[in-house]
Amino acid sequence: MIRERRRTEERDLESDDAIRWISINGEKNTATLNLVKGHNIYGEKLVKYEGEEYRIWDPFRSKLAAALKKGMKNMPIKNGSKVLYLGASTGTTVSHVSDIVGLSGLVFAVEPATRVARELIENVASKRKNVLPILEDARKPHSYFAVFGKIDVVYCDIAQPDQTDIAIANCLMYLKTGGIMLLVVKTRSIDVTMDPRAVVAQEATKLKESGFQIDQIINLEPFDRDHGMIYCIYKS
Ligand code: SAM
Repeated sequence: MIRERRRTEERDLESDDAIRWISINGEKNTATLNLVKGHNIYGEKLVKYEGEEYRIWDPFRSKLAAALKKGMKNMPIKNGSKVLYLGASTGTTVSHVSDIVGLSGLVFAVEPATRVARELIENVASKRKNVLPILEDARKPHSYFAVFGKIDVVYCDIAQPDQTDIAIANCLMYLKTGGIMLLVVKTRSIDVTMDPRAVVAQEATKLKESGFQIDQIINLEPFDRDHGMIYCIYKS
């Protein structure tokens, strides 16, 4: 059977059964294999694909889905990954990460705001054994008693002016050498007067000076205005 030739990033994505590109009404959507069948988290569609149930992953609701749509070259989060997720909020993106890592992986989900953390626990962590909520401030990584061993991927989306420093401190403590950090940069939280691209470049320089190799910088527009994602590798 002759199959439609896919773009490279789609082939890479689909080497992992937990992430698919699924067409609905002619539009390609990313979707993740639902770990909790029949249950959705934020009103996302559940669809059957090759006999399995997938959750459509909305790039307007999740910056990680937006990064995939905008051409992220590699998805570092895979089946079995241990992920430290900073800024879990109510768990929209955490739930998709939980689908991807599966039951052999773990998501340590850090969120200090009690109101949203309650939703994270009720809607996501209580139904998904691989999500461990940590109600702490990411400025104090030494206070996460739940995290054990080294982490494969640190994901940081906390919209704070010092978010890069916070992310680096967490990586120094938990990320394995060669591990990946995905840093969401909300440029307006850092400097509203600067060109957003210059803010992202400034944060990337900070990362390079702290032992990270920058692999890719992704502009998240039109899904998120004035946001970029930095994909970097922790070298030492
Ligand atoms: N990542 C979420 C998603 O895609 O579903 C959205 C995150 S929202 C933009 C930012 C979150 O970071 C908020 O829930 C906020 O409470 C949290 N946050 C802010 N400061 C933080 C800190 N110092 N440590 C950990 N989380 C923080």
